[in-house]
Amino acid sequence: MHLCDKSGMSDVKQQLKRALDTALAQYTETMGEAFPIAPILDVVDDPEFWAMAEMDGDIFRIRVSTGTADGTAKLWTSAFNDEGFVASFGQAIGTDARAMTHIGLVWLMLHELHHFQMGHFDNQHEPNLSMTGSNKEHGLVKRTAEHSETHPSASAASGLIFEMQADHDATEMLLDAYSPDEWLSLRARIAAISAMMMLIERADSSNYPHGATHPKAATRMFQLLGHVIDMPTLSAHPNLQDATNGEGYSAEAVSEEETTRFVTQVAVPAFFDAVSLARVVSAQSIIDDLGDAGEFFSDIQTTKLDVNPDNLNTIGARELITLKHKMHSQPDKSSRWASKFFSPIDT
Ligand SMILES: [Zn+2]
Repeated sequence: MHLCDKSGMSDVKQQLKRALDTALAQYTETMGEAFPIAPILDVVDDPEFWAMAEMDGDIFRIRVSTGTADGTAKLWTSAFNDEGFVASFGQAIGTDARAMTHIGLVWLMLHELHHFQMGHFDNQHEPNLSMTGSNKEHGLVKRTAEHSETHPSASAASGLIFEMQADHDATEMLLDAYSPDEWLSLRARIAAISAMMMLIERADSSNYPHGATHPKAATRMFQLLGHVIDMPTLSAHPNLQDATNGEGYSAEAVSEEETTRFVTQVAVPAFFDAVSLARVVSAQSIIDDLGDAGEFFSDIQTTKLDVNPDNLNTIGARELITLKHKMHSQPDKSSRWASKFFSPIDT
């Protein structure tokens, strides 16, 4: 190995360590207590994009490839070299590729931390693997599949549900509580998350054309923007404080006028940021899956009142609601993730 490779590797290692440290700090800030276990970070020198969380006895380990950090940095460098993207995002937000890469990696670390936090490793006799990317060499998907065959309750759908839950809680933590002063920074964080979802889908689909191991990027983005739209309302519902640990939520109602401006200045631009990013990485399938902006946002409204997947127009909305139905039909696994759609908002 050349010296320059070594220093490149250690740069990436530092970058990933910094992302984990930021994620842990964000966790402590939101929850008011430190993460219950000190994760071991294992950076693997591999150009493929993949990350996973595993329990090894009492040790919680997050394994990430160097290709994950490199791939994220590459995407953002391309984005900031793209005139269209700079005109629509870069100029408005005033950030750079390095900062966006860091935020994306922080979200990825939060996602892995939440697999542990939500008990996705419970009731298992062998180390369970929960990947964010995919890598045949490590046999991760195969081991997950074996696991589900021997444990009927851990179906393929459960794996997808676990991913959506980890996404949900990581996103909630990274986006933090609604604040009227942080719309631009919020849009940057949403774009950083969207980019990771695209990179995961790309890593997933290049190895597994059937894409059964992870929810579609469009589904994850549907959940992401559904959460964003709810942010001003959540701040006005002090009775939801328990569910979100009460941190930083103001009891003051956000006016309807402000909520509308928030949708037009943050949520809708965030959708187009995602489309624009997908264009930068030539992910036409993601653009197709996201569908029309009008239909996408109308589906977000529809899912608040009507949970029949047949009444939804976009692919992401239908997959999300189908997964929620599966989750909801397993009473032993009731969680606020599923109940968010299946109980009235005011209770
Ligand atoms: Zn995951």
